[in-house]
Amino acid sequence: MARPMVVVHGGAGAWRGLDVDIGVVARVLRDAVSVGLDVARSGDCIDMVVEVIAFLEDSGLFNAGVGSVLDYSGGVSMDAGLMDSSGRAGAVAAVTYPRNPIRLARIVMERTPHIIMAGVKADELASRLGLERHPGPHPRALERWRSLKSRVPESAWIAKRVEAARALGYDTVGAVVVDSRGCLAAGSSTGGVALKLPGRVGDSCIPGAGFYANDRVAVSATGIGETIIMSMSSLRVAQFYEAIGVLRVAVERVVEEHTRRWGPGTLGLIALSHRGEVEASYNTEAMPWAYASLGEEPRVGGLPQG
Ligand code: ASP
Repeated sequence: MARPMVVVHGGAGAWRGLDVDIGVVARVLRDAVSVGLDVARSGDCIDMVVEVIAFLEDSGLFNAGVGSVLDYSGGVSMDAGLMDSSGRAGAVAAVTYPRNPIRLARIVMERTPHIIMAGVKADELASRLGLERHPGPHPRALERWRSLKSRVPESAWIAKRVEAARALGYDTVGAVVVDSRGCLAAGSSTGGVALKLPGRVGDSCIPGAGFYANDRVAVSATGIGETIIMSMSSLRVAQFYEAIGVLRVAVERVVEEHTRRWGPGTLGLIALSHRGEVEASYNTEAMPWAYASLGEEPRVGGLPQG
């Protein structure tokens, strides 16, 4: 019997100039860990990762689900995905219908022969299967969109994608868990980067990039999706861990490598190993995260300074 464990993050980024109370962010992350550990009493690793991420999507506090940031035209479109150590994965890209894209990702994994479904057809599946509908732009996201849009011309976005995304912040959610049978799972969910071009898809729905799990480690990534896709950051952690056997070294090495290639402000990672090692590392100003195993009080790290 393994000891169930949950690790969550609320997104790597500057966490500055956002209209959120960081004390509330810490509390909601701790609550998310508790939700996952409660589910672990009767559910498996997929139940845990889905319920933890759905809880964060519902909070409206993060850039995922209800709180998703808006694209350049003022629309919400979301990516999410999950994977477990038995080799199953499911994901959705650029969906607009579901309140909880992570639930639709689970449906793709369990009820279709596919791994990623995108856009209108994925939305139709969500509606047909009776998933709850997204309520539309959150007032905070709308306010942020209005203020950003007045400052960022579209041409800057196209020419300087990474720089623009870095300046705009990103606060996706993710989780890595292990259940009592030792099954590891990883997942991510996001509204993408603020002011993205409509139709843009990031890393959070791409196995190996925004999330990855095998029988030794589960990883969830956050940051600038374009750089995470190019580096396959979550898979890279698993590969280093396989080679080195020490999770801290593997995670730190991936962040160092990423910073050398893409610069600071581009990546955050959480990871959990089959031996119960927990790690988080980021090259952004902050990445609020929390973790606990069953029976423990959740601990929080990565909060912005000052
Ligand atoms: N990785 C996400 C994306 O690029 C953003 C984030 O992590 O906040 O879509």
